[in-house]
Amino acid sequence: MASALTRMAYAYDRLRAYPPEVAGRIATAMTSALSGREDPVFLELGVGTGRIALPLIARGYAYVALDKDPGMLEVFRQKAAGVMRKVRLLLADARALPLPDESVHAVIAVHLWHLLPDWPKALAEALRVLKPGGVLLEGWDRVEAEVEWRLQEAWRAFVEAEGVRVERGLHQRRLQEVEEALKRLGLKPKTRQVVAWKEERSLRDALEALEERLYSFTQGVPEEVHRKAMDRLYPWAEEAFGSLDRTFPVQKSFFLRTTRLG
Ligand code: SAM
Repeated sequence: MASALTRMAYAYDRLRAYPPEVAGRIATAMTSALSGREDPVFLELGVGTGRIALPLIARGYAYVALDKDPGMLEVFRQKAAGVMRKVRLLLADARALPLPDESVHAVIAVHLWHLLPDWPKALAEALRVLKPGGVLLEGWDRVEAEVEWRLQEAWRAFVEAEGVRVERGLHQRRLQEVEEALKRLGLKPKTRQVVAWKEERSLRDALEALEERLYSFTQGVPEEVHRKAMDRLYPWAEEAFGSLDRTFPVQKSFFLRTTRLG
């Protein structure tokens, strides 16, 4: 039976997955930042269940897959089982990398910085293990979905009615802070949109993503308060939108920021 840790990891894996062609476009954008380099080694900080890593691993690249959550790493290990030849799994903290200086050609960080209040440590570690001429590849999704936004705001109102404040928007602010830190080091980060696509999502999936706390803004809320808010949210959603199996459009895009060392 799945433990609570792997249950959340499976939910993450299913609800945050990229369509195959999108995953391929992202992989191509990452490898093109390294073109010309023979047998590059990638390190991903906070690899999760591997939605960024697996297409790169399938293309034969050497990959160090690091995460501090054993549940995420376990689901990643199962998914990568058939293509593990050049993969090293590392259960470790991005703020203290168990790797030598200048040992990898690319460090990938997707949806990670906002989870680390002391992100400068992880950034310093990333730059330490990069070889001269190596690249830091930071990626993030942008999601626009009015229905989902309204659901999340209703959840927030129910939580705040219990006296707990919810902070949103940290992800974008943190990306900005990291960019400023890179520029202060004399580096030149360059951002571009890699791909945009549309998905249909069911209300049930949107509720599950909230319930399983897949969004970082939900993660600091005490369990009892979260439970109460979810108990109010399900009937609220049915009242506002009808059947939970109803789908709604989600506009998504993926951005990549590339910073080359030296
Ligand atoms: N990069 C993956 C993706 O885009 O699908 C996963 C993103 S998920 C939002 C963040 C991941 O970072 C989780 O798997 C979490 O366990 C991991 N993480 C959080 N803090 C970490 C830390 N200090 N060191 C290593 N991994 C960390």
